[in-house]
Amino acid sequence: MLSSVLSREECAKCRFCCSFRRQSLWETPLFDSETVSRLTEKYPSAKFKPRAGAFTIDIDDKYETDDPEEEALCPFNVNGCVLDSADKPFDCSIWPLRVMSADGGLAICLTPTCPVISGKPTDVMRELAEGEVGDKVIGYAAAHPEMIKEYKEGFPILRRFAEK
Ligand code: SF4
Ligand code: SF4
Repeated sequence: MLSSVLSREECAKCRFCCSFRRQSLWETPLFDSETVSRLTEKYPSAKFKPRAGAFTIDIDDKYETDDPEEEALCPFNVNGCVLDSADKPFDCSIWPLRVMSADGGLAICLTPTCPVISGKPTDVMRELAEGEVGDKVIGYAAAHPEMIKEYKEGFPILRRFAEK
C-alpha cells in the first residue's frame, strides 16, 4: 500500500519493524482468528496468543538473554516477510503508518522510528494519510476495531477522525 514511499528492497535490508524488544511487545502485529487458523496450518512452528479480541504472535520464548535491548524476530520474517497480502496483518501492511484510537476517535499516526521514512519530509506522509491511502486505511480500521491499538505518546498524528 505504501510502495510509492517505501520499497521491498529497503525493507528486506532493514527488518527493524519485524523484530521487537520486550518493552515493544505492544507493537507486535494483530491477526484475526481466520488468519491465525490458516497460518497455523502453513507454519506449525509459529505461535500466537490472544490479545484484546484478536491474536498476536507469541515470541516470549525467543529471547535468549535478560538484556532489555535484545530483539526477537517475528516468525514470519525469513529474509523478509514471507506472508502474502491475504495473510499480512493490517498493522504491517500500513507500517510505518498506524491507526490508533485517540481522544474518542481514530487517528492515522506516523511511526517515528522507520529509518527510510524518517528521511522523507513529513508532508509526503501527511499527503498519503489525507488522500486515498488514508481513506482505505481508516475504512478498514473502522470496520475492524479489534485491530486498533491505543494511542502512544511520541507518534505524530497525521489525520484525525472523530467517529470510530
Ligand atoms: S523500519 Fe521502515 S525500512 Fe525498516 S523494515 Fe520497517 S518499514 Fe521497512
Ligand atoms: S508479519 Fe511480516 S511484516 Fe509483519 S512483523 Fe511479521 S515478518 Fe514483519
